[in-house]
Amino acid sequence: MLTLTLDVRKIASGSELQTFLEHFQEHKALKTACRCATCEKVQVQSIAHIRKCWSKLRVYLHRKLGAAPKYVAVLEFQKVTGLAHLHIATDHWIDQAWAKEAWQALGGGQHVDIRHIDAHRAGAYLSKYLSKELLLSAPPGVRRVTTSRSIHLDEKKPSEYQWEVIKAEIDRILIIFRESANQVVLSDGELESFAARE
Ligand SMILES: [Zn+2]
Repeated sequence: MLTLTLDVRKIASGSELQTFLEHFQEHKALKTACRCATCEKVQVQSIAHIRKCWSKLRVYLHRKLGAAPKYVAVLEFQKVTGLAHLHIATDHWIDQAWAKEAWQALGGGQHVDIRHIDAHRAGAYLSKYLSKELLLSAPPGVRRVTTSRSIHLDEKKPSEYQWEVIKAEIDRILIIFRESANQVVLSDGELESFAARE
């Protein structure tokens, strides 16, 4: 899991940069990003900038790893600056020092965070960023989630299962499924849950 951030000094310059930095100082205590025309312009530029830098970093990674890394990238915005940053789940372990140097050389910011997450937990970890609320909060026309070509998030297989709600006391349901019931959980002598396969 890789987090990549930006440095505003590499996106804006001159009076634009000065205004952005001043407004950032004013907004810091309020914990909200300034939405004036100048700051918003820089914030919008940061989206294209981070995508460009990430695309270059992928070329570097491809060369280093000998294969194109598979990834899911989620675009987010820093609360106080409004600048884009990326949370990326990838199938390769990436050396932090290497990534930090490469990211900065390619136009990225100071902060590169890398942590190893267990493959089984990757889904839970990512879903935090993939909540409906988050996906809907993207500026118009901006894709929040991008993936390597090999990954298709919207791919849905028809379910093998059909769900049905049975409204009855759990003790009675256990009697019905007695033959195949397993993982029976009791709490204070009361039946709490069980699993069964028909
Ligand atoms: Zn501003």
